Amino acid sequence: MPGQHAKLSASGAHIWMNCPASYRITKDMPDVETPYAEEGTRAHAYCEYLLRKALEPKAEIPEAIPDNREMEVCCQEYADFIQDKLIEDWEDLPEAFVERRVDFSKWVEGGFGTSDCIIAKADTIIVNDFKYGKGVRVEAEGNPQLRLYALGAIDELSLWDFEKVEMNIIQPRLDHVSSETVSVAELLEFGERAKEASELAFSGNGPAKAGPWCKFCKANAICKERATKPLETIRKILDIGKGGKDR
Ligand code: SF4
Repeated sequence: MPGQHAKLSASGAHIWMNCPASYRITKDMPDVETPYAEEGTRAHAYCEYLLRKALEPKAEIPEAIPDNREMEVCCQEYADFIQDKLIEDWEDLPEAFVERRVDFSKWVEGGFGTSDCIIAKADTIIVNDFKYGKGVRVEAEGNPQLRLYALGAIDELSLWDFEKVEMNIIQPRLDHVSSETVSVAELLEFGERAKEASELAFSGNGPAKAGPWCKFCKANAICKERATKPLETIRKILDIGKGGKDR
């Protein structure tokens, strides 16, 4: 029934788009807030403060304080990246939307999220994502979270005539910036794939498929599919070896 599903998040799209059964298996499991996630939330708040202070000098911005010098420097790097983007294309009169709620429910029922910063300029929309984590290097190429945010953004800013979508991940603690640019047509094709995958996930009939995304799945400690996958792989390797000897 529409509206009765738990949310399929953009940040978890790499899981549910690869393993549709993950929705059925994890939907009643509570979210566990880790110290890393809390730290990330505080870093994002400081990024927002820095950007708003720079872009809206006359507004009263509630102050945010970084935890330490590392957070201060990393957030400033992100804020500088956004401001450089705005300056490099100032002739196109770019417009920035900080901490913008994006609704991609046209493609994924109930889907929404918050993009760190969206820039609209001439024929291009730019979706920027700050990552404070340093455990996993995150790439923009084919990144479903950014693409879902971009879908929500072009839907909301439909009066602009965008042709291209630029997506950037800024991960200062790994000294890492990753970017991808696709056409709006390509993004909409992705939207159709996301729609199909979300419908399969919501149906509860989708198969479980183990892969690298399992380590981010809430079910990874109890999932039978994940537990048996390495054994299957070993069995296949042994079978290949056996076949080789028989020949
Ligand atoms: S652990 Fe892997 S296989 Fe199991 S439900 Fe999660 S994503 Fe799917």
